[in-house]
Amino acid sequence: MTNHELLERVRTAWINRASQRLAPAEQVRQTFLGLLDRFYDLWEQVTDSGHLNLLDLMLDEWVSALMQIEAGKVQSNLPPIFNQFLTITLEVARENLSEQDTITVLSAMIPVHAYSLEYLYVKETMMQIQKVSDELNKAQSDLEQLDKTKSDFIAVAAHELRTPLTIIEGYAAMLKENVSPVQGESPSPGELYLKGINSGTRRLREIVDDMIDVSLIDNDALSLTFQPIWINRLLEVAEQDVAEYVSERNQKFIINHFSGIAEMTFGDGERLLQAFRNVITNAIKYTPDGGSIVVDGRMLPGFVEITITDTGIGIAPENHSRIFEKFGRLGSVSLHSTGKTKFKGGGPGLGLPITKGVIEAHGGAIWVESEGYDEDRCPGSTFHIILPIRKSPPDDKAAKLFRPLSESTG
Ligand code: ADP
Repeated sequence: MTNHELLERVRTAWINRASQRLAPAEQVRQTFLGLLDRFYDLWEQVTDSGHLNLLDLMLDEWVSALMQIEAGKVQSNLPPIFNQFLTITLEVARENLSEQDTITVLSAMIPVHAYSLEYLYVKETMMQIQKVSDELNKAQSDLEQLDKTKSDFIAVAAHELRTPLTIIEGYAAMLKENVSPVQGESPSPGELYLKGINSGTRRLREIVDDMIDVSLIDNDALSLTFQPIWINRLLEVAEQDVAEYVSERNQKFIINHFSGIAEMTFGDGERLLQAFRNVITNAIKYTPDGGSIVVDGRMLPGFVEITITDTGIGIAPENHSRIFEKFGRLGSVSLHSTGKTKFKGGGPGLGLPITKGVIEAHGGAIWVESEGYDEDRCPGSTFHIILPIRKSPPDDKAAKLFRPLSESTG
């Protein structure tokens, strides 16, 4: 008797047994009988042809009907059903066939059983992966949405704050006319109050400007005006800008004459100065009184590297990239101060994201190296800035304008 004939002999018994065991409820038995019939046909075809993949279509249908994603877990009900098929085959063959034929029928079932289980396992794994990747995609798009909301909020808040700020500045300027100082006399209360208003509005203006810069960077709308610049000149201007704070804090500020410092390159001088000033102001802020800040660097092929090293409190390695994110300030909110250079007087956490945006808009990079955060030992931090040396500006119009200069220095 052929294998096919043997399978036909136990067909009715097999299907009845399977339907009773797997679909005991009358209502579903009829549907289940159809499924079992189809499975049996395929089993016979596989046994005749040896092509196990004839089962794929049916397995796919069963998988999509029976796999469930429940409580965050992909679960399949199919392996126990296939285990039952194996048991039922053994029982029915034993009851109706000789020992030899039972072995033949079982041998026809085992590859189908093994193939189906493996197929289900792979499908289940793929569904798990798909589910995790869907979740990741969703989390990412939620984060993007959140970031967009944050950046929209910053833009709106900054623009809304600007108008009343301008009004306060205007009235303060008008008041100043009325409380002009009297020669030789100590400042009147009016003058002192005005001084307070002015320093408050100046700080507020800086914060509002930073908010606007951050939203420009977020929206890729930062426009740069490329002009010939010299790094040493920018650093000297930054040095003058912070000289008062350095002496207030009794710190040392040293600019080394490194190779490449006097190189001419094209860049947005204002923006680069803002970037250097931010990093240097931070170095002052996060270094105790009496500490030192050293600017050094080196020439690299096509690039210049500038390093700003302080003897401050340092930054824990896990925060080395976080500090470049918007509002990525570390430590407690209570540390916030209106003093721009007070020791550890954190700001809103916009300085470094702006700096990064400016440097990257120039085709450069910025990162920090620091052993760790320790307020007692003060291991210090080194900020590295890499800028490409451009011998001509990136846009054609400016390139024409500056050609004679690029030719003479290039
Ligand atoms: P903030 O306005 O808070 O200074 P920044 O974006 O300039 O914002 O800096 C983000 C955070 O990075 C700071 O709050 C501070 O915790 C940390 N940081 C920046 N520069 C230094 C530094 N030189 N030494 C130690 N920590 C620093």
